Amino acid sequence: MSDSIFVTRPQLPPLEEFIPYLEEIWSSRILTNGGAFHQQFEQALCEYLGVKHLSLFSNGTLGLVTALQALRIDGEVITTPYSFVATAHSLLWNRIQPVFVDIDARTLNLDPRKIEAAITSRTTAIMPVHCYGHPCDVEAIQEIADKYNLKVIYDAAHAFGVRDAFGSVLRHGDLSVLSFHATKVFTTFEGGAIVCPDARTKQHIDHLKNFGFVDETTVVAPGINGKMSEINAAFGMLQLRHIEQALTERRRVDGFYRSELRDIAGIRCLEGQPDHTVNCAYFPILVEPDYPISRDMLYQKFRNEGIYARRYFYPLIADFPMYREMTSARADNLPAAKLAAQRVLCLPIYPTLTLDDQRRIVDVVRDV
Ligand SMILES: *Cc1c(COP(=O)(O)O)cnc(C)c1O
Repeated sequence: MSDSIFVTRPQLPPLEEFIPYLEEIWSSRILTNGGAFHQQFEQALCEYLGVKHLSLFSNGTLGLVTALQALRIDGEVITTPYSFVATAHSLLWNRIQPVFVDIDARTLNLDPRKIEAAITSRTTAIMPVHCYGHPCDVEAIQEIADKYNLKVIYDAAHAFGVRDAFGSVLRHGDLSVLSFHATKVFTTFEGGAIVCPDARTKQHIDHLKNFGFVDETTVVAPGINGKMSEINAAFGMLQLRHIEQALTERRRVDGFYRSELRDIAGIRCLEGQPDHTVNCAYFPILVEPDYPISRDMLYQKFRNEGIYARRYFYPLIADFPMYREMTSARADNLPAAKLAAQRVLCLPIYPTLTLDDQRRIVDVVRDV
């Protein structure tokens, strides 16, 4: 009996490599509150990602919640139902009304052609997601935002290291939020960051993530505790040394799946844009009606073989109890998202996935 295969497996460097980092923390006795590793890691990430300013967080969700606070967003925010539930939860947590707009069936990202019809006098912002690390139509979204004077906050939890022809996709919008959760391409166990356009915005966000403290006795805002600890930041520094290698391995798996699945009728792989640097964070396939069995039957067949593919994103956010009564959550408003939630299956992809395991996975799809 072969071992179970999960959809992802966190990339851990050899333990010995982490020991010197721990020794440094132990001898400094600075455990958090913007210590040496926190500062180093912010700097190193800016350089690696190709962005000017960024503020580390203890997780991506607090990053989203704080980004909304930093821009004083209220009223209604247009967002996608086809994402991890934290996207919309960050709005509800700020007492903001999410307004769901359908996705583009080809990219699975928020469909810019549907946004304008959802704008009301209460709309203040758009929160799109670079789903699976495939960049949104950032230009079309910015054009609408400019026309209606809306902010744009990208949930960039999947988009670590993704670049278009001109640079990092994280430069778009007013703010972009990353996640370094254990399941993501780049992990600090738990963690996240807000990418900011200028030093002033970063400083404001730095205050917000530290209870609003500016100095020992001055509190300028009702902030939260969103700080990343030294141990997570140190681990991030170590991970950065291995990220290029990990991305190369992911691209190899992605290439294998694409070539092997190409000729299977009823299986469609999601296409990226050709001039983009991708991170291969996920490998979604669409199980279309001309495939012999349904997505859920294929999912079950995988499980019977000990392969834990995931139905990201099913159910849709709009189908969870705190959202489903909203007008914009109705199925007839979200036909493309509904179909995607029924058809997508994310196959295992991670740097150490062996060629034998990749073959096992492809064989399950082929042998129906
Ligand atoms: C993982 C994820 C989040 C949440 O990030 P955490 O670091 O787990 O809080 C938010 N949005 C999307 C799209 C995600 O995939």
